[in-house]
Order: sequence, then C-alpha cells, then structure tokens
Amino acid sequence: MSKLWVLGNGQLGAMLKHAAELLDVEVILVAVEVSDCSKLPSLEEHDVVTAEREHWPDNVVTRRLFQHPNFRSRRAFTEIADRLSEKQLFDKLQLATAPWVVLSQHTSVSDVFAALGGHVLLKRRSGGYDGKGQQWLRESNHDTVAEGWRGQAIAEQAIAFDEEISLVGARSASGKLVFYPLSLNLHQDGILLASIAPLERLQKYQSQAEAMLAKLMNELDYTGVLTMECFRVGDQLMINEVAPRVHNSGHWTMGGATVSQFELHVRAVMGMPVSQPSANKVSVMINILGLEWEPRWLSVPNATVYWYDKKVLPGRKLGHINLNIADSTQLEDSLLALKGLLSERYEPMFEWIRKELVL
Ligand code: AMP
Repeated sequence: MSKLWVLGNGQLGAMLKHAAELLDVEVILVAVEVSDCSKLPSLEEHDVVTAEREHWPDNVVTRRLFQHPNFRSRRAFTEIADRLSEKQLFDKLQLATAPWVVLSQHTSVSDVFAALGGHVLLKRRSGGYDGKGQQWLRESNHDTVAEGWRGQAIAEQAIAFDEEISLVGARSASGKLVFYPLSLNLHQDGILLASIAPLERLQKYQSQAEAMLAKLMNELDYTGVLTMECFRVGDQLMINEVAPRVHNSGHWTMGGATVSQFELHVRAVMGMPVSQPSANKVSVMINILGLEWEPRWLSVPNATVYWYDKKVLPGRKLGHINLNIADSTQLEDSLLALKGLLSERYEPMFEWIRKELVL
C-alpha cells in the first residue's frame, strides 16, 4: 500500500498520522531541519506526499519530498507560502481582502500611508505565523519602517473588523468539494486562543464563504484540506489569509464532526472517498498557550485533552482542549470546571464564550 509522507513533524503531522492509522494508511513524518543529509527518505514512486506547514528550509530532504510527482497541490504551496503571490491570487480571483501594497526597496513610509491610510500592518512575505513577522505602523505616531523589512514584506490596511471567522474545506482529486460549518475565532496577541463551531448566527455567511473558498480551490486544482481565515466586516467577508493544510481553527472537528479535518485531508490526498461532514454538537476549542501540563484538565467533564509534548515556552501552543457537547447545561458545567484550571489570561475568553453561546 502507498505510504503518506508529511513534510513537517509538528502537532499537525502527529494528528494527521493518528487519523490515518484508523484508515490503515501508514504516515511518515519528516523533520524539515536536517542534520544528517545521508538519510534520504526512501520514497516509492506510488507514495503520496503532503505537508503540515507552508515553509521549510531548502535542503536535500525537503527538495526530494516537494519534487515527488505525487506531492499534492504543489502550486498552492508555491503561491500561498508567499504573502505577495497570495494577495495577487486573491486580487486575480476578485476575492475581497484587506487593501495592500508591496513594500519594495524604494517604498517610503509616506507612500504606504498615502495608499492605505494612517494605520497599517507590515507582514513579512514568508515565515510569519501566529502574529509573528508583523509590525504595526501609525502615521500619527510618526512610525517608520524598521531595518530589514523593505523588499521582504507587504503592507496591509488595518481592518476594523467585527470578528474573525474561518472556513475549512476539502477538495478531492476529482473536484468534489465539502465544507465544515464556519468557526468563530478569538485571537489574542495575534495567536488563536479559542474557536466555537457551529454557530447558528454564522449560517448566513456560510454560502458566501464557501463560494470564496471553492473559487480558490478550483483555481488551484487543489486536493486536500484548505483553510480560509476571514475578517467579517458587516455582511462582507474579507480573506485575511489561507493555509494549504489542516488548521488550528479546525481542531474542533476532532470529536465535533463526523469526519475530522485530519481524516478528511488524508482521504482527499490518498484518493479515498471524501464525504460531507456533519456537526451535531456545539464545539469549543481552547488552545493551551504557554501553560505547564495540568492533569486536572482530564477531570473536566466531557473534555478531550490533546497534548503536543513540546517544550513549555511563554505563549507557545502546547495543546488544546475540545468540548464537543450538545447539551448547553453540560457545556456550561464543563466551562466552569475548566475556568479554575487555566490562567488569568483566559478570563476574557470565558466571557466571550458565554456571550456567544448565551450561557
Ligand atoms: P495573520 O498572521 O495574518 O493571521 O494575523 C494574525 C492576526 O493579526 C489576525 O488574526 C488578526 O487578528 C490580526 N490582523 C492581521 N491582519 C490584519 C489587518 N489587516 N487588520 C487588522 N488586524 C489584522
């Protein structure tokens, strides 16, 4: 049987591997930082290759995997990994996105403010994630562009959005499209803190979001799971960014939907049937950021804890907790139990969840 090779060996890879085991698909996670180049992956011609990340160093191992004829959706990775070509793709497809300009060697800060207004966000073209590789500029503060950003970044207008939502969808090799319900996302300091899905009041944006993501996936002739993060501004969705992979804002689907995003991705890239997932419970996904392992999380009723076994560093994503619960009283009890086991940083998040779920 064909093996599935994954570029990257982080938590997304581990969760893909876990889902694949249930489908009897062997997954090999490959670290992208290579210390020993003599250990080349023994890829077979009929094996399949995918990735759990958009960026990797160019070395003999990553090159071999990326150039394999069965690397799925290579074009998406080349276009989406660079914010410049990503934005150009949105514009070409007339998909709404925050107004932007490229920050070339010759762009002055006044050019940027003249084009986008007095509040802008510089984003590095590649390598930035979880709010990293970003720099806010305010004309009223007389901010200037720091050393090393020109030629490496785009500038985006600051969007006064109502909220942030994301759509996870999948496309099979034959072009079948399926989507999860939209999830509502709460970020803190540029990092995802929590997601809620499905949410009835978001249903009215579902078809608009699906049409946008379908356009992208079809244009890229994409196979696998693709995630679209949006700002909602009134009734209009604006794409913030897309990821050619499973995504943190889709973690609620583990236990919250009939097929998780990880299983769906494996099915799509391996040419297995891709079915429309349904979600019959309310799911709340909470990221564990920078906290030590707490065994009492396991005693929270109806909670599922996923721990990534990474070194604890401030703000780092170390795990997540899913509450996939249909009954609102039970959900409220679980949230109450969990509240005492997380840090103060989470207090506003619990308020946000209570408000959204009218608890
Ligand atoms: P990103 O790494 O692009 O997903 O950005 C991280 C977070 O920064 C987003 O989830 C938003 O909360 C915020 N952000 C990104 N771009 C903008 C923008 N153009 N205007 C306002 N906030 C933004």
